[in-house]
Amino acid sequence: SGGKAQREIPFAQPGSLTKVFAIASGKGGVGKSSVTVNLALSMAKSGLKVGIVDADIYGHSVPAMLGVADARPTQVDDLIMPVPTSSGVSVISIGMLKPRRDQVVAWRGPMLDRALVQMLSDVYWGDLDVLLLDLPPGTGDVAISLGQHLPGAEVVVVTTPQEAAAEVAERAGTMASMMHQRVVGVVENMSFLPCPHCAEDGTEHRLEIFGSGGGARVAATLSGRFGYDVPVLGEIPLDTSLREGGDVGKPIVDADPTAPAAQVLASVAERL
Ligand code: ADP
Repeated sequence: SGGKAQREIPFAQPGSLTKVFAIASGKGGVGKSSVTVNLALSMAKSGLKVGIVDADIYGHSVPAMLGVADARPTQVDDLIMPVPTSSGVSVISIGMLKPRRDQVVAWRGPMLDRALVQMLSDVYWGDLDVLLLDLPPGTGDVAISLGQHLPGAEVVVVTTPQEAAAEVAERAGTMASMMHQRVVGVVENMSFLPCPHCAEDGTEHRLEIFGSGGGARVAATLSGRFGYDVPVLGEIPLDTSLREGGDVGKPIVDADPTAPAAQVLASVAERL
């Protein structure tokens, strides 16, 4: 046909030594991207070579969270070089594939599929220990494409404690399982706000802003459905410095590693 042959996805080859984790959620705004970048940095700090594919077509906020919002990947021959960051994690984002930054990604299934394959196979990732994929929320085209191209990817489901978030998170997990991917655990984010006045009198109350039980509920439902244990990997508190770290491109596990939220994120990274 004259078209160039499709390069194979290295992570899908039988001998691949790269662990691939897809970070999924039912709905947006639950902290999926924040979890992705902080897990990546934690893993990099423990000496692993880590890459991130930001496939969230609605948000694609990962580059900004890593301090490389305006970076564009360079090209060497017909290979795309992922954008390096100061933390050692390299990243490619679906936002970087758009001709213009302010353009909305209004792509249909086949184009999204091509974009995903391009980020996996046309990017020079080198020898990664771990590749993290930030998926769009929900059970849409990107999740289906990923399941088809990388059934060996393991899935981490992020939810808040809220019932409505948990319910859609269960659907995202079930979808991954239908695509023959293993769901390795649930991360509950925004689990509680440590009462800011307790330090004054030495007590420790938790304000459950978004209710409670969402993470445990998703884990129990998926465990029952799949017939294997899907654990809650961690419960991350609300923390202003987590939000600020994302805003200024310096994730909390680097900026404020002793913060309780950072310590939960580091321990989740260790369990993966
Ligand atoms: P998603 O990827 O699920 O859409 P984000 O990671 O972009 O969610 O998070 C949405 C917003 O909430 C961001 O501004 C982020 O900084 C903030 N956020 C996420 N988790 C926390 C937390 N535990 N404490 C405080 N702010 C948080």
